[in-house]
Amino acid sequence: MQVHRSTELVVEQVTPNAFVHTSFKQTQDFGNVPCNGPVVRNGGEAIVFDTPTTDSAATELIRWVQDSLHCRITAVIPTHFHDDCLGGSKAFHAHGIPSFAHQRTIAPAAADSVEVPQHGFTEPLMLKVGTERVTATFHGEGHTKDNVVGHFPSEHVLFGGCLIKELEASKGYLGDANVSAWSGTVAAVEQAYPR
Ligand SMILES: [Zn+2]
Repeated sequence: MQVHRSTELVVEQVTPNAFVHTSFKQTQDFGNVPCNGPVVRNGGEAIVFDTPTTDSAATELIRWVQDSLHCRITAVIPTHFHDDCLGGSKAFHAHGIPSFAHQRTIAPAAADSVEVPQHGFTEPLMLKVGTERVTATFHGEGHTKDNVVGHFPSEHVLFGGCLIKELEASKGYLGDANVSAWSGTVAAVEQAYPR
């Protein structure tokens, strides 16, 4: 169910406590691409996976979570280093919201001289949201060499990021991909979250 819509940002509710934010990125090769990530909440707290693509769309999402969900965002987790995942990072940092990313994400983000995630991890990351938890885990290379998968186990929400495609989707941008490892990584994800 759609719960928010503007020209820059759409939010849909997918389970009682999980939402999907969608923003847009104008590209030469793929047109105006929708980019999405989850927002999960519990007990007045929320965690966002992937920033909206721009600081203005990110600011709109932060305000929506505060005003409509009445939650405090305690973390944002970009799932790889492309700007569809961290393009709105400055807005989160400006609101005092800490960012967490795999160490594999931090180096290329710094090399691209974009806003760099503040906290790095290499082992699976576990963060509390209210009394529940989310995880972010690297299972192998695919769309990029740093792509991680997000999980909100209490509502069986798995976020594959650009690693996992909908049926009939194209492979998308392959400039940073490891195409030969990709299928094996997806198999590892399937094995890690069988339900
Ligand atoms: Zn990407």
